[in-house]
Amino acid sequence: MLIGVPKEIKNHEYRVGMTPESVAEAIRHGHQVIVEKNAGTGIGAADQAYEAVGATIIDTAAEVFERADMIVKVKEPQAIERAMLRPNQLLFTYLHLAPDPDQTKDLVNSGATCIAYETITSDSGALPLLKPMSQVAGRMSIQAGAVALEKSKGGKGLLLGGVPGVAPAKVVILGGGVVGFNAAQMAVGLQADVTILDKNPATLEALSNHFGSTAKTLYSTQATLEKAVIEADMVIGAVLIPGAAAPKLVTREMISKMEAGSVLVDVAIDQGGCFETSKATTHAEPTYVVDDVIHYCVANMPGGVARTSTYALNNATLPFILALAGKGWKQALKDDKHLLNGLNVWNGKVTNQPVAEALGYDY
Ligand code: NAD
Repeated sequence: MLIGVPKEIKNHEYRVGMTPESVAEAIRHGHQVIVEKNAGTGIGAADQAYEAVGATIIDTAAEVFERADMIVKVKEPQAIERAMLRPNQLLFTYLHLAPDPDQTKDLVNSGATCIAYETITSDSGALPLLKPMSQVAGRMSIQAGAVALEKSKGGKGLLLGGVPGVAPAKVVILGGGVVGFNAAQMAVGLQADVTILDKNPATLEALSNHFGSTAKTLYSTQATLEKAVIEADMVIGAVLIPGAAAPKLVTREMISKMEAGSVLVDVAIDQGGCFETSKATTHAEPTYVVDDVIHYCVANMPGGVARTSTYALNNATLPFILALAGKGWKQALKDDKHLLNGLNVWNGKVTNQPVAEALGYDY
């Protein structure tokens, strides 16, 4: 199969659909890969790195879209890219169609076969192509919050781990799923005083077994949460209610009772955020202050560490890329019900039930 990797064109998107290592694997499996000029620049992969493993560098996105049987991307196709999709062409990327009627209409009209990373499932019921980005965001949240706690950034002037003879900072993590677990790993590693709140007893048990005495776990009620938040130096918002907006667990009143220079990192901002005072920010201007408390609410945190994120994403996408290219999409979807769950648009129809219901398409 001829696989095409265009350069990402969404604002401030530096990731790329395939790393040179992934391209090498595809070529080793007998496929051809064409890569748009400078597609890998944002992750430090020069055109020569792709050429060295056998890819062909192409000058324009138009030619990549015209020639490739399968397009592999990261972000949802922008309008100009959607206009280049062809009937029966395969598109494999994040789509997030439910809140995006314009994109959905264009993909339906294109006649392309569109498989979305975010709806591919696994036996455990998890979403394996979303997981790596949650791991990145969870780990990054502590890094971002630690910088914000520095005095020059408006923070309290606290070092997360303290030093011998000086107490560490108190980190409170709301939600102990993928983001929360990874945040806790980083905070524990830096020797902070870590507390994780969750509503799921099985999750609390797993966290407690994993972290032992290095992190406290608390069942999340309004009362436990309020006390923990008010006493915290840093709060990480990492809750998720699948298919719903994030619950506003932390009220403005609670925030006003926190010490000046405390830090809130709302990772759940992509679902609306779990602090009442949250509004989405960008990597260019990641923080703002409400009631003397610093808010970090970057909606695409993984984009800030594009190289790590691209490699993490490729680790998850590569087996599916090889299956789709090796068997053809029809057979690959027949053989793998989890990959089939990724099919969102086919032959001018929406084939994902929640997307169809959200946007009023027949299913
Ligand atoms: P997850 O499903 O693995 O974990 C969410 C956890 O929240 C679950 O353990 C759940 O029990 C818990 N929870 C739900 N309601 C709660 C409550 N009232 N109190 C305490 N805990 C509660 O989800 P995840 O992969 O960890 O993602 C968390 C959030 O981070 C999501 O909103 C996701 O979209 C977001 N995210 C954002 C970025 C970004 O760049 N900003 C990147 C990746 C993920």
